[in-house]
Amino acid sequence: MSFMTRSRKLSGKLTTKQIQGEVDEVKNVVNQLIGAVGQDMARLNGLIYALLSEMDLLDETNCPHCGQVLYEPRLKMLDKQEDCPACGKKIQDNQGKITDYETWDNGGEEE
Ligand SMILES: [Zn+2]
Repeated sequence: MSFMTRSRKLSGKLTTKQIQGEVDEVKNVVNQLIGAVGQDMARLNGLIYALLSEMDLLDETNCPHCGQVLYEPRLKMLDKQEDCPACGKKIQDNQGKITDYETWDNGGEEE
């Protein structure tokens, strides 16, 4: 029975330095986690798009507003993407007005 190890509990209060140290530690861990998850996500994303592309299930379009290339999986169970992830504007369905597309071919690339 040794009650000699009374570690005084630091009186429960941490110094700001200690707190800062712990916060930094937590930040590091979180950053590492986010980095790892981000890498996994990127890998998965690439894999899925490669698969869809291989299976010819990927529609490649451009946002009529900002020209961002958009990959739309042609999967029945998925809702169509409505907003452009780049500019946030509504993506009009291709069957709708295609006035924005008309200027496309007028670039004089033909011959
Ligand atoms: Zn856009």
